[in-house]
Amino acid sequence: MENTVEKLRIDGTRLWNTLMEMAEIGGTPAGGCNRQALTDEDKQGRDLFVRWCQEIGCEIRVDRMGNVFARRAGSEDLPPVITGSHLDTQPTGGKFDGVYGVLAGLEVLRTLDQHQIQTKAPVEVVVWTNEEGARFSPAMIGSGVWAGEFSLDYGHGRADKEGKTIGGELARIGYLGDEPAEPKPITAAFEAHIEQGPILEKQEQVIGVVTGVQGIRWYDVTFHGTPCHAGPTPMEDRRDPVQALSLLCQKLYGEVKAFSEDARMTCGDLRAEPGSRNTVPEKVVLALDLRHPQPEGLEHLHQSLHRLVKEVEEATGTTVEVRDEWHSPPVAFNEDCIAAVDKAVKSLGYSHRKMVSGAGHDSVYVSRVAPVSMIFVPCAGGLSHNEAESAEAEHLEAGCNVLLQAMLDRAGIA
Ligand SMILES: [Zn+2]
Repeated sequence: MENTVEKLRIDGTRLWNTLMEMAEIGGTPAGGCNRQALTDEDKQGRDLFVRWCQEIGCEIRVDRMGNVFARRAGSEDLPPVITGSHLDTQPTGGKFDGVYGVLAGLEVLRTLDQHQIQTKAPVEVVVWTNEEGARFSPAMIGSGVWAGEFSLDYGHGRADKEGKTIGGELARIGYLGDEPAEPKPITAAFEAHIEQGPILEKQEQVIGVVTGVQGIRWYDVTFHGTPCHAGPTPMEDRRDPVQALSLLCQKLYGEVKAFSEDARMTCGDLRAEPGSRNTVPEKVVLALDLRHPQPEGLEHLHQSLHRLVKEVEEATGTTVEVRDEWHSPPVAFNEDCIAAVDKAVKSLGYSHRKMVSGAGHDSVYVSRVAPVSMIFVPCAGGLSHNEAESAEAEHLEAGCNVLLQAMLDRAGIA
Protein backbone atom coordinates (compact mmCIF):
# COMPACT_ATOMS: atom_id res chain seq x y z
CA MET A 1 0.00 0.00 0.00
CA GLU A 2 2.80 2.44 0.98
CA ASN A 3 4.34 1.85 -2.41
CA THR A 4 1.14 2.58 -4.35
CA VAL A 5 0.65 5.76 -2.38
CA GLU A 6 4.15 6.98 -3.17
CA LYS A 7 3.34 6.59 -6.86
CA LEU A 8 0.06 8.46 -6.49
CA ARG A 9 -0.12 11.63 -8.63
CA ILE A 10 -2.69 14.36 -8.97
CA ASP A 11 -4.34 15.08 -12.32
CA GLY A 12 -2.65 18.23 -13.67
CA THR A 13 -5.18 18.76 -16.46
CA ARG A 14 -8.11 18.50 -14.07
CA LEU A 15 -6.40 20.99 -11.73
CA TRP A 16 -5.80 23.44 -14.60
CA ASN A 17 -9.38 23.16 -15.90
CA THR A 18 -10.72 23.70 -12.40
CA LEU A 19 -8.60 26.85 -12.01
CA MET A 20 -9.82 28.16 -15.37
CA GLU A 21 -13.46 27.45 -14.51
CA MET A 22 -13.13 29.33 -11.22
CA ALA A 23 -11.38 32.21 -13.04
CA GLU A 24 -14.51 32.79 -15.14
CA ILE A 25 -16.28 34.02 -12.02
CA GLY A 26 -15.40 37.70 -11.85
CA GLY A 27 -13.21 37.29 -14.93
CA THR A 28 -11.97 40.64 -16.33
CA PRO A 29 -11.49 41.55 -20.03
CA ALA A 30 -7.72 41.76 -19.40
CA GLY A 31 -7.65 38.11 -18.32
CA GLY A 32 -7.59 38.65 -14.57
CA CYS A 33 -10.16 38.30 -11.82
CA ASN A 34 -12.21 40.70 -9.74
CA ARG A 35 -13.77 38.52 -7.08
CA GLN A 36 -13.55 40.66 -3.98
CA ALA A 37 -14.49 39.31 -0.58
CA LEU A 38 -18.22 38.70 0.09
CA THR A 39 -19.42 40.13 -3.22
CA ASP A 40 -21.88 38.21 -5.42
CA GLU A 41 -18.85 36.89 -7.33
CA ASP A 42 -17.24 35.62 -4.12
CA LYS A 43 -20.54 33.87 -3.28
CA GLN A 44 -20.56 32.24 -6.73
CA GLY A 45 -16.95 31.09 -6.27
CA ARG A 46 -17.72 29.68 -2.83
CA ASP A 47 -20.85 27.93 -4.10
CA LEU A 48 -18.88 26.32 -6.91
CA PHE A 49 -16.17 25.14 -4.50
CA VAL A 50 -18.78 23.71 -2.11
CA ARG A 51 -20.54 21.91 -4.97
CA TRP A 52 -17.25 20.39 -6.16
CA CYS A 53 -16.47 19.18 -2.64
CA GLN A 54 -19.95 17.73 -2.11
CA GLU A 55 -19.66 15.84 -5.39
CA ILE A 56 -16.86 13.79 -3.83
CA GLY A 57 -18.70 13.26 -0.57
CA CYS A 58 -17.08 15.90 1.62
CA GLU A 59 -18.81 17.31 4.67
CA ILE A 60 -19.04 21.13 4.59
CA ARG A 61 -18.89 23.37 7.65
CA VAL A 62 -18.99 27.17 7.71
CA ASP A 63 -17.91 29.16 10.75
CA ARG A 64 -19.08 32.54 12.06
CA MET A 65 -16.44 34.32 9.93
CA GLY A 66 -17.57 32.55 6.77
CA ASN A 67 -14.48 30.35 6.64
CA VAL A 68 -15.48 27.19 4.77
CA PHE A 69 -14.13 23.76 5.74
CA ALA A 70 -14.58 20.75 3.43
CA ARG A 71 -13.73 17.51 5.20
CA ARG A 72 -12.93 14.08 3.81
CA ALA A 73 -13.32 11.64 6.70
CA GLY A 74 -10.39 9.68 8.10
CA SER A 75 -10.47 6.14 9.46
CA GLU A 76 -9.49 7.24 12.96
CA ASP A 77 -10.68 9.90 15.34
CA LEU A 78 -7.66 12.16 14.84
CA PRO A 79 -7.25 15.94 14.37
CA PRO A 80 -7.38 16.73 10.63
CA VAL A 81 -4.59 17.59 8.23
CA ILE A 82 -5.73 20.81 6.62
CA THR A 83 -4.78 22.85 3.56
CA GLY A 84 -6.28 25.89 1.92
CA SER A 85 -5.99 29.55 1.11
CA HIS A 86 -8.44 32.14 -0.22
CA LEU A 87 -10.81 32.60 -3.15
CA ASP A 88 -11.13 36.40 -2.87
CA THR A 89 -8.98 38.55 -5.17
CA GLN A 90 -7.74 42.10 -5.54
CA PRO A 91 -9.95 44.36 -7.75
CA THR A 92 -7.46 43.79 -10.56
CA GLY A 93 -6.23 40.42 -9.36
CA GLY A 94 -5.09 37.29 -11.12
CA LYS A 95 -6.30 33.73 -11.52
CA PHE A 96 -3.86 32.09 -9.11
CA ASP A 97 -3.17 34.11 -5.95
CA GLY A 98 -4.94 32.18 -3.20
CA VAL A 99 -7.19 30.31 -5.63
CA TYR A 100 -4.38 27.89 -6.42
CA GLY A 101 -4.04 26.95 -2.73
CA VAL A 102 -7.75 26.18 -2.45
CA LEU A 103 -8.09 24.29 -5.73
CA ALA A 104 -4.83 22.38 -5.23
CA GLY A 105 -6.42 21.19 -1.96
CA LEU A 106 -9.57 20.19 -3.86
CA GLU A 107 -7.42 18.33 -6.40
CA VAL A 108 -5.78 16.40 -3.52
CA LEU A 109 -9.24 15.37 -2.26
CA ARG A 110 -10.35 14.40 -5.77
CA THR A 111 -7.21 12.29 -6.23
CA LEU A 112 -7.81 10.47 -2.92
CA ASP A 113 -11.43 9.93 -3.91
CA GLN A 114 -10.59 8.69 -7.40
CA HIS A 115 -8.04 6.18 -6.10
CA GLN A 116 -10.10 5.33 -3.02
CA ILE A 117 -7.28 6.10 -0.62
CA GLN A 118 -8.35 6.09 3.00
CA THR A 119 -6.30 8.31 5.29
CA LYS A 120 -6.08 7.80 9.05
CA ALA A 121 -6.57 11.48 9.91
CA PRO A 122 -9.35 13.41 8.16
CA VAL A 123 -8.19 15.72 5.37
CA GLU A 124 -9.72 19.18 5.06
CA VAL A 125 -9.63 22.05 2.57
CA VAL A 126 -10.28 25.54 3.97
CA VAL A 127 -11.38 28.72 2.23
CA TRP A 128 -10.40 31.66 4.45
CA THR A 129 -12.55 34.81 4.29
CA ASN A 130 -11.14 38.15 3.06
CA GLU A 131 -7.45 37.33 2.81
CA GLU A 132 -6.70 40.18 0.42
CA GLY A 133 -7.93 43.04 2.57
CA ALA A 134 -8.93 44.84 -0.64
CA ARG A 135 -12.61 45.35 0.19
CA PHE A 136 -12.35 45.06 3.97
CA SER A 137 -9.29 45.99 6.03
CA PRO A 138 -7.25 44.39 7.50
CA ALA A 139 -6.04 41.53 5.32
CA MET A 140 -6.26 37.89 6.48
CA ILE A 141 -9.13 38.63 8.82
CA GLY A 142 -10.93 35.28 8.40
CA SER A 143 -7.90 33.29 9.53
CA GLY A 144 -7.03 36.07 12.02
CA VAL A 145 -10.32 35.81 13.91
CA TRP A 146 -10.20 32.02 13.74
CA ALA A 147 -6.68 32.00 15.23
CA GLY A 148 -7.63 34.43 18.01
CA GLU A 149 -5.75 37.47 16.70
CA PHE A 150 -8.99 39.50 16.43
CA SER A 151 -12.35 39.16 18.16
CA LEU A 152 -15.41 38.00 16.25
CA ASP A 153 -17.11 41.36 16.90
CA TYR A 154 -14.14 43.18 15.41
CA GLY A 155 -14.24 40.87 12.38
CA HIS A 156 -17.97 41.27 11.83
CA GLY A 157 -17.75 45.05 12.26
CA ARG A 158 -15.14 45.73 9.55
CA ALA A 159 -16.80 47.87 6.87
CA ASP A 160 -16.10 48.52 3.20
CA LYS A 161 -16.09 52.02 1.63
CA GLU A 162 -19.89 51.97 1.41
CA GLY A 163 -20.25 51.09 5.08
CA LYS A 164 -21.30 47.48 4.44
CA THR A 165 -19.90 45.20 7.14
CA ILE A 166 -18.38 41.75 6.97
CA GLY A 167 -21.09 40.42 9.29
CA GLY A 168 -23.86 41.90 7.15
CA GLU A 169 -22.36 40.74 3.88
CA LEU A 170 -21.75 37.21 5.21
CA ALA A 171 -25.45 37.00 6.09
CA ARG A 172 -26.46 38.46 2.73
CA ILE A 173 -24.54 35.89 0.69
CA GLY A 174 -25.50 32.99 2.96
CA TYR A 175 -22.08 32.32 4.49
CA LEU A 176 -22.63 33.39 8.08
CA GLY A 177 -22.10 29.92 9.53
CA ASP A 178 -22.99 28.75 13.00
CA GLU A 179 -19.74 27.01 13.90
CA PRO A 180 -17.53 29.03 16.31
CA ALA A 181 -14.63 30.74 14.49
CA GLU A 182 -11.94 29.23 16.66
CA PRO A 183 -9.25 26.61 16.18
CA LYS A 184 -9.72 22.94 16.95
CA PRO A 185 -6.74 20.59 17.27
CA ILE A 186 -4.96 20.15 13.92
CA THR A 187 -2.38 17.51 13.02
CA ALA A 188 -0.70 19.63 10.34
CA ALA A 189 -1.54 22.45 7.93
CA PHE A 190 -0.10 23.24 4.49
CA GLU A 191 -0.73 26.08 2.05
CA ALA A 192 0.30 25.97 -1.60
CA HIS A 193 0.71 29.39 -3.22
CA ILE A 194 2.34 31.10 -6.18
CA GLU A 195 5.57 32.74 -5.04
CA GLN A 196 4.51 36.32 -5.94
CA GLY A 197 8.21 37.09 -6.36
CA PRO A 198 10.82 36.33 -9.05
CA ILE A 199 13.27 34.04 -7.25
CA LEU A 200 12.12 30.54 -8.31
CA GLU A 201 11.69 31.58 -11.94
CA LYS A 202 15.08 33.32 -12.03
CA GLN A 203 16.83 30.30 -10.53
CA GLU A 204 14.83 27.88 -12.68
CA GLN A 205 13.48 25.98 -9.70
CA VAL A 206 10.05 24.43 -9.51
CA ILE A 207 9.29 24.29 -5.79
CA GLY A 208 9.94 26.67 -2.92
CA VAL A 209 10.07 24.84 0.40
CA VAL A 210 8.90 27.73 2.55
CA THR A 211 10.45 27.85 6.01
CA GLY A 212 8.78 31.00 7.30
CA VAL A 213 7.57 34.50 6.61
CA GLN A 214 9.60 37.69 6.78
CA GLY A 215 9.19 40.00 9.72
CA ILE A 216 7.91 43.47 8.88
CA ARG A 217 8.27 46.85 10.58
CA TRP A 218 6.42 49.93 9.37
CA TYR A 219 7.43 53.47 10.28
CA ASP A 220 6.29 57.00 9.62
CA VAL A 221 9.49 59.03 9.51
CA THR A 222 8.87 62.79 9.73
CA PHE A 223 11.61 65.25 8.76
CA HIS A 224 11.07 68.74 10.19
CA GLY A 225 12.72 71.72 8.48
CA THR A 226 12.17 75.45 8.09
CA PRO A 227 10.06 76.62 5.18
CA CYS A 228 11.68 79.38 3.14
CA HIS A 229 11.66 80.92 -0.31
CA ALA A 230 13.28 78.83 -3.07
CA GLY A 231 15.05 81.89 -4.53
CA PRO A 232 16.56 84.28 -1.98
CA THR A 233 17.64 81.71 0.64
CA PRO A 234 21.27 80.53 0.14
CA MET A 235 21.72 76.76 0.32
CA GLU A 236 23.83 76.89 3.49
CA ASP A 237 21.12 78.83 5.35
CA ARG A 238 18.45 76.21 4.86
CA ARG A 239 17.07 73.53 7.13
CA ASP A 240 15.75 71.41 4.31
CA PRO A 241 13.84 68.25 5.24
CA VAL A 242 14.23 66.83 1.74
CA GLN A 243 18.01 66.94 2.05
CA ALA A 244 17.66 65.09 5.34
CA LEU A 245 15.34 62.57 3.71
CA SER A 246 17.66 61.93 0.80
CA LEU A 247 20.67 61.57 3.10
CA LEU A 248 18.83 59.07 5.30
CA CYS A 249 17.65 57.08 2.29
CA GLN A 250 21.15 56.98 0.82
CA LYS A 251 22.69 55.78 4.09
CA LEU A 252 19.93 53.31 4.90
CA TYR A 253 19.78 51.78 1.41
CA GLY A 254 23.55 51.29 1.66
CA GLU A 255 23.31 49.59 5.04
CA VAL A 256 20.39 47.37 4.07
CA LYS A 257 22.18 46.17 0.91
CA ALA A 258 25.43 45.57 2.76
CA PHE A 259 23.74 43.83 5.70
CA SER A 260 22.08 40.87 3.97
CA GLU A 261 20.49 39.84 0.70
CA ASP A 262 17.43 38.88 2.75
CA ALA A 263 16.87 42.42 4.01
CA ARG A 264 14.27 44.66 2.36
CA MET A 265 13.71 48.40 2.47
CA THR A 266 10.84 50.20 0.74
CA CYS A 267 9.92 53.87 0.74
CA GLY A 268 6.37 53.44 -0.50
CA ASP A 269 4.98 56.90 0.11
CA LEU A 270 6.28 60.45 0.51
CA ARG A 271 4.35 63.52 1.53
CA ALA A 272 5.73 67.06 1.55
CA GLU A 273 4.01 69.94 3.35
CA PRO A 274 2.94 72.50 2.40
CA GLY A 275 3.78 70.97 -0.96
CA SER A 276 4.69 73.96 -3.09
CA ARG A 277 7.37 73.88 -5.78
CA ASN A 278 9.07 77.15 -4.77
CA THR A 279 9.07 76.65 -1.00
CA VAL A 280 11.43 74.48 1.05
CA PRO A 281 8.94 72.15 2.81
CA GLU A 282 8.21 72.52 6.49
CA LYS A 283 8.04 68.77 6.79
CA VAL A 284 8.29 65.60 4.79
CA VAL A 285 6.72 62.32 5.91
CA LEU A 286 8.15 59.07 4.64
CA ALA A 287 6.23 55.76 4.90
CA LEU A 288 9.01 53.24 5.43
CA ASP A 289 8.78 49.43 5.30
CA LEU A 290 11.68 47.27 6.57
CA ARG A 291 11.72 43.46 6.38
CA HIS A 292 13.92 40.58 7.41
CA PRO A 293 13.28 36.85 7.92
CA GLN A 294 15.07 36.65 11.30
CA PRO A 295 14.12 38.55 14.48
CA GLU A 296 17.77 39.58 15.05
CA GLY A 297 18.01 40.81 11.47
CA LEU A 298 14.88 42.90 11.77
CA GLU A 299 16.13 44.27 15.08
CA HIS A 300 19.43 45.18 13.42
CA LEU A 301 17.59 47.14 10.72
CA HIS A 302 15.51 48.87 13.40
CA GLN A 303 18.66 49.91 15.30
CA SER A 304 20.38 51.05 12.09
CA LEU A 305 17.44 53.29 11.27
CA HIS A 306 17.61 54.99 14.66
CA ARG A 307 21.40 55.40 14.52
CA LEU A 308 21.33 56.85 11.01
CA VAL A 309 18.51 59.22 11.92
CA LYS A 310 20.78 60.74 14.59
CA GLU A 311 23.61 61.13 12.06
CA VAL A 312 21.26 62.82 9.63
CA GLU A 313 19.94 65.22 12.26
CA GLU A 314 23.50 66.28 13.10
CA ALA A 315 24.52 66.64 9.46
CA THR A 316 21.47 68.64 8.35
CA GLY A 317 20.25 70.55 11.40
CA THR A 318 16.78 69.13 10.97
CA THR A 319 14.84 67.11 13.49
CA VAL A 320 13.65 63.67 12.50
CA GLU A 321 10.87 61.80 14.26
CA VAL A 322 10.46 58.04 13.89
CA ARG A 323 7.04 56.64 14.75
CA ASP A 324 6.38 52.87 14.86
CA GLU A 325 3.30 52.06 12.79
CA TRP A 326 3.24 48.25 12.79
CA HIS A 327 5.45 45.34 13.80
CA SER A 328 4.81 41.84 12.51
CA PRO A 329 7.58 39.58 13.84
CA PRO A 330 9.11 36.94 11.56
CA VAL A 331 7.31 33.59 11.50
CA ALA A 332 9.22 30.31 11.55
CA PHE A 333 7.12 27.45 10.19
CA ASN A 334 6.91 24.04 11.86
CA GLU A 335 9.95 21.75 11.44
CA ASP A 336 7.89 18.59 10.89
CA CYS A 337 5.73 20.25 8.24
CA ILE A 338 8.80 21.65 6.47
CA ALA A 339 10.38 18.18 6.62
CA ALA A 340 7.22 16.60 5.12
CA VAL A 341 7.37 19.04 2.19
CA ASP A 342 11.10 18.56 1.78
CA LYS A 343 10.73 14.77 1.73
CA ALA A 344 7.90 14.98 -0.82
CA VAL A 345 9.90 17.29 -3.12
CA LYS A 346 12.92 15.01 -2.99
CA SER A 347 10.98 11.81 -3.65
CA LEU A 348 9.19 13.49 -6.56
CA GLY A 349 12.54 14.72 -7.92
CA TYR A 350 11.58 18.37 -8.46
CA SER A 351 14.22 21.11 -8.41
CA HIS A 352 13.72 23.18 -5.28
CA ARG A 353 15.11 25.60 -2.75
CA LYS A 354 14.31 26.64 0.77
CA MET A 355 12.95 30.16 0.99
CA VAL A 356 11.02 32.58 3.17
CA SER A 357 7.84 34.26 2.07
CA GLY A 358 8.05 37.97 1.40
CA ALA A 359 4.28 38.40 1.60
CA GLY A 360 1.82 37.71 4.40
CA HIS A 361 -0.51 34.71 4.11
CA ASP A 362 -3.31 33.03 6.08
CA SER A 363 -0.63 30.57 7.20
CA VAL A 364 0.89 33.29 9.38
CA TYR A 365 -2.19 33.28 11.64
CA VAL A 366 -2.75 29.54 11.32
CA SER A 367 0.86 29.01 12.48
CA ARG A 368 -0.02 30.55 15.87
CA VAL A 369 -2.30 27.63 16.71
CA ALA A 370 -1.18 24.72 14.51
CA PRO A 371 1.92 23.20 12.87
CA VAL A 372 2.17 24.83 9.41
CA SER A 373 4.34 25.19 6.36
CA MET A 374 3.92 26.42 2.78
CA ILE A 375 4.77 25.30 -0.75
CA PHE A 376 5.60 27.88 -3.42
CA VAL A 377 5.54 27.51 -7.19
CA PRO A 378 6.94 30.06 -9.68
CA CYS A 379 4.82 32.75 -11.32
CA ALA A 380 5.82 34.61 -14.48
CA GLY A 381 8.06 37.58 -13.75
CA GLY A 382 7.15 37.34 -10.07
CA LEU A 383 4.02 39.29 -10.97
CA SER A 384 1.00 39.12 -8.63
CA HIS A 385 -1.90 41.33 -7.57
CA ASN A 386 -2.11 41.95 -11.31
CA GLU A 387 -4.47 40.76 -14.03
CA ALA A 388 -1.48 39.45 -15.98
CA GLU A 389 -0.50 37.11 -13.14
CA SER A 390 0.42 33.80 -14.73
CA ALA A 391 1.78 30.38 -13.80
CA GLU A 392 2.64 27.28 -15.79
CA ALA A 393 0.37 24.25 -15.62
CA GLU A 394 3.39 21.99 -15.15
CA HIS A 395 4.56 23.95 -12.08
CA LEU A 396 1.08 24.06 -10.59
CA GLU A 397 0.85 20.30 -11.05
CA ALA A 398 4.23 19.79 -9.37
CA GLY A 399 3.25 21.93 -6.37
CA CYS A 400 0.01 20.00 -6.02
CA ASN A 401 1.85 16.65 -6.10
CA VAL A 402 4.09 17.92 -3.31
CA LEU A 403 0.99 19.00 -1.37
CA LEU A 404 -0.58 15.57 -1.85
CA GLN A 405 2.49 13.69 -0.63
CA ALA A 406 3.11 16.04 2.31
CA MET A 407 -0.52 15.75 3.44
CA LEU A 408 -0.46 11.94 3.13
CA ASP A 409 2.78 11.89 5.12
CA ARG A 410 1.10 13.72 8.01
CA ALA A 411 -2.34 12.10 7.71
CA GLY A 412 -1.13 8.49 7.43
CA ILE A 413 -2.70 5.76 5.34
CA ALA A 414 -5.30 3.45 6.87
ZN1 LIG B 1 -2.74 35.01 -1.52
